Amino acid sequence: MMAKPDIKDITGEQLTTWLEKGGISPYRTGQILRWIYKRQADSFEQMTDISKEIRSRLSLHFTIGRPEKIRVEQSEDGSKKYLFGLEDGNRIESVLIPERGHFTLCISSQVGCAQGCRFCLTGKGGFVRNLSRGEILAQVRDIQRDLADPKYLTNIVLMGMGEPLANYRNVVDALNLLTDTAAGFSFAGRRVTLSTAGLVSRLADLGKETTVNLAISLNATDNRARDRLMPINKKFPIEQLLDACRRYPLKPHRRITFEYILLKGINDSEKDAGRLARLLRPVKSKINLIPFNAYEGSEFQRPEEPVIEQFQQILLRKNYTAIIRRSKGQDISAACGQLQVKSMGDTR
Ligand code: SF4
Repeated sequence: MMAKPDIKDITGEQLTTWLEKGGISPYRTGQILRWIYKRQADSFEQMTDISKEIRSRLSLHFTIGRPEKIRVEQSEDGSKKYLFGLEDGNRIESVLIPERGHFTLCISSQVGCAQGCRFCLTGKGGFVRNLSRGEILAQVRDIQRDLADPKYLTNIVLMGMGEPLANYRNVVDALNLLTDTAAGFSFAGRRVTLSTAGLVSRLADLGKETTVNLAISLNATDNRARDRLMPINKKFPIEQLLDACRRYPLKPHRRITFEYILLKGINDSEKDAGRLARLLRPVKSKINLIPFNAYEGSEFQRPEEPVIEQFQQILLRKNYTAIIRRSKGQDISAACGQLQVKSMGDTR
């Protein structure tokens, strides 16, 4: 027998079409989605304001899947790393980060990643597959349920495993459900951020199709250095990337965040800081400086503290908003780009 599809893997329009084909009013779509995303229903049986007949037809055709929560690791700083098991045995990770008065959740968009950034543990493991729309949303749904009060989860970042724009359709559909106030999760668009290594060919579409924030993982100020750190740069060099950023259809009062992982002796010089300031001049931007979080066997090191501060000062003097982001969850390898590989060989 064929496995039933997860209802989270189809869009609202697809659900409406399915309902209409069965002679059911499209009005039910909103009701069903609200049960799933706002009221966390685990079965169609719970949808008590929908007739028994429709509920049993839904159960015959769909499931409401939940990934298996294999393990939760808590960091000394309060961050929590969730390891989820998927239907096909693959595993993904999500990280819940406590901030002042709220939580940010970092979610994955692929199993593994094909981009091969040299500083990234996920990249070293290679690409396995895209996550479905339902698997992306399930991370939010499941972790939201874990919180004493789900309303404290206010921010979502797509910065976990994978290059989100390489899984474009599923990611955009998931983002639109996250920001859908009528039937979805109701996150504010300005509180949801997609971070990309620079898949330029998809940037303009993203700006048109969603209301979320854009972050670019830049990490170098010349093509030679960026080619070495991030192979995607050979396809979409810095000039093309920044040109696409300049033309990006930003929402009012928004800026693009540029992430810059500081690597000792590689991209942390005063010249780099000056070049970065010049490069970003045409773009409405802010900069997150992320001192590298060295891991066992990593080829890079973290710069000394005075070097980090000097780099920031140069940007501040040029009137940039430049914030030093100290990775949380270092003791559980929960920092950006450090997910998955550690758990790949784990048994439960
Ligand atoms: S940094 Fe992001 S894009 Fe680069 S290899 Fe890691 S997960 Fe992929």
